[in-house]
Amino acid sequence: VQRNADSHVDVLIVGAGPAGLMMANWMSRCGVKTRIVDKRGTKIFNGQADGLQCRTLEIFDSFSFGHRAWIESNHMLEICLWNPDPKTGVLARGDRIPDTIPNISRFQQVVLHQGRIERFFLDAIRENSIETGCNGEPGTKEAEIKVEHGVLPTSFQFEESAADDEDAYPLTVQLRHLTEEEATPTQKATLANGQSIVDGLFRSNLSADDTQDVINLSNSIADKAGRTETVKAKYMLGADGAHSWVRQQLGFKLEGESTDYIWGVLDIIPITDFPDIRMRCAIHSESSGSVMVIPRENKLVRLYIQLTTTNVEDGSGGKKFDRSTITPETIIASAQRIMQPYKIEYRYLDWWTAYQIGQRVGNSFSLHERVFLAGDAVHTHSPKAGQGMNVSMQDAYNLGWKVASVVKGQANCSILKTYQSERRRIAQDLIEFDHRFSRLFSGRPAKDVMDEEGISMDVFKDAFEKGNMFASGIAVDYGASVIVAKSGSAKDQGDGTEVLGDEKLRVVSSDGLATGLEVGKRMPSFKVLNQADARPWHFQELLKSNGTWRVVVFAGDIRDAAQKRRLDRLGEKLGGEDSFLRLCTPSGARYDSVIGLLSCHSAPRQETTIFDFPEVFRPWDENDGWDYWKVHVDDQSYHEGHGQAYKNYGINPTRGCSVILRPDQYISWIGEMDDYKSMDSFFRGFMVDQRTKGGAKTAIAEGSKKG
Ligand code: FAD
Repeated sequence: VQRNADSHVDVLIVGAGPAGLMMANWMSRCGVKTRIVDKRGTKIFNGQADGLQCRTLEIFDSFSFGHRAWIESNHMLEICLWNPDPKTGVLARGDRIPDTIPNISRFQQVVLHQGRIERFFLDAIRENSIETGCNGEPGTKEAEIKVEHGVLPTSFQFEESAADDEDAYPLTVQLRHLTEEEATPTQKATLANGQSIVDGLFRSNLSADDTQDVINLSNSIADKAGRTETVKAKYMLGADGAHSWVRQQLGFKLEGESTDYIWGVLDIIPITDFPDIRMRCAIHSESSGSVMVIPRENKLVRLYIQLTTTNVEDGSGGKKFDRSTITPETIIASAQRIMQPYKIEYRYLDWWTAYQIGQRVGNSFSLHERVFLAGDAVHTHSPKAGQGMNVSMQDAYNLGWKVASVVKGQANCSILKTYQSERRRIAQDLIEFDHRFSRLFSGRPAKDVMDEEGISMDVFKDAFEKGNMFASGIAVDYGASVIVAKSGSAKDQGDGTEVLGDEKLRVVSSDGLATGLEVGKRMPSFKVLNQADARPWHFQELLKSNGTWRVVVFAGDIRDAAQKRRLDRLGEKLGGEDSFLRLCTPSGARYDSVIGLLSCHSAPRQETTIFDFPEVFRPWDENDGWDYWKVHVDDQSYHEGHGQAYKNYGINPTRGCSVILRPDQYISWIGEMDDYKSMDSFFRGFMVDQRTKGGAKTAIAEGSKKG
């Protein structure tokens, strides 16, 4: 089993759940030398998380596997709210709301179990890493990033004095390779209806962590030769779930509280007379608790059921929850009580688990920007709002490209600080949201307006509707930083800059230039046409997650002579020898591999050609001619209508504007279409001048002064 007596990697990922896999996926896209280990012997095949929010689907689409999730999943369109009828007390549908707020994304919420989602990642990681050559020669099997199952870290050291040296490997980790028996979790197999079911309790927060037991068991086996190796890493990600071993090594804490509410989860094919079983439903009974219905793929339905529970002595005078009382039978019995007079039973049970509701968030997400924590390792909460897996993947989606661009010497390490500043706030918002949402869900409905202890169903509906915006992931709005040029959250210096902590930020007023876009939020998507071949594209489809920044020039009406002059002057600067586009791109690399240039104009497509644009907008390659995929137009398509991109983005169709997008599609900067100077100074804040690479890695301090 010994892999390498002493191996050096750029990135070591601990944990191959959704967060770890998202990180490995970025590394595979960007060609970064990476290992990913997981203490479990196999991946999961059923159960666990299932809800995919629309922002997550946009992200999957940017990695080219969104369609797999979209096709295989069950789509949830409507939420039905069921409550006791105020007059009769009998359960009745009180309201319906759309499951995803209409028009916030080109995708809507879907459900598909975690095992399939992990499969999509594994396929993408294999394909990309072989292509980009992460761990060996591109195109060879050795280059592949493979999840190493049954491998876990047993010790960790950090050489703090080397933390600022970007070429150093300050992390030393001992890895232990487990036997199959050690790597297989002890699971209870339940016999239900003659069928043997493996439950998910071993991953539930009702179970203690088994990492130390696994290490102890492994220590006790006499023959350890060749089962341990030392890895030196530049960066490490702890994506090892709620009991995170990495978090414990760093001494970081999860802060928050837990409640007495216990919920059971059943994945079944239901046999029922309940009419809305294929809708997402929130069912509040008068006094027996609540059920959430999630219709799933393959005729499955997931029921989240509040349990009436039994407590036992905890040995120190207190009471603790008696886990042994939870079985699929007790869970379905709870559901039957809550859903009466409707009947529900099952012949087929796919998976089940139980969990205790609690909300906790990590006090820190990073050690010296060398070790990071993501996912459940830094935030835990109830699963009903379908957030954990989504937010966990989105943590790593935020981090991956930043680490890759620092490892590759494209950006300086100042950008890594933004991981904690951006994602810890999201985690706190998530915890607050879940706190409110799960209490509303677990409470009993109010009998009348005087019943202060009960939950008003109007308040519940309102919270559901507002919560939907948060839960979609679309509302994420990153604060000002070296890579988000927006004013307001930092100290104004009166010279066009603001100071935030120890960072000096260049701030640009984007007032009125694009009223439908917000700096700090993700780029919304509307259809535009390719100028060269008239094919319609959703704008986000042009923003693949491959590690590149994008400058998007909304060129306006280029038939207007003054506007055309502005465009030509901008083209001259962008195409110049000392343009930031060139300074940031290593010699020999493709022109759009670090910063790509996209444009979209508003003149009629049939009155223009790509040759109305300066060459930098449609670069020339001596081997394959012009690049026809950079110039777009906001115009009517033959078959898919008019995307009205300028109108929806709130951009003046004559004067246009320019927008800088991060590699994760978030808006960094909005300015006048030809404000080259400001774009240049934005990139100057953190990008590395490739002429000085190999010597001191400086930001492009003396980059183009031409502006
Ligand atoms: P995990 O998925 O926990 O992955 C951690 C990985 O690290 C595991 O593979 C583990 O084996 C490994 N590991 C742990 N310790 C070590 C170690 N010491 N060394 C090496 N490897 C280690 N979220 C949603 O978004 N939508 C939903 O609909 C949803 N429903 C849920 C339903 C249920 C019943 C449950 C229990 C959870 C649900 N969640 C949902 C939450 C979601 O499952 C988690 O938030 C998500 O899996 C977190 O991803 P992660 O990668 O951070 O951690």
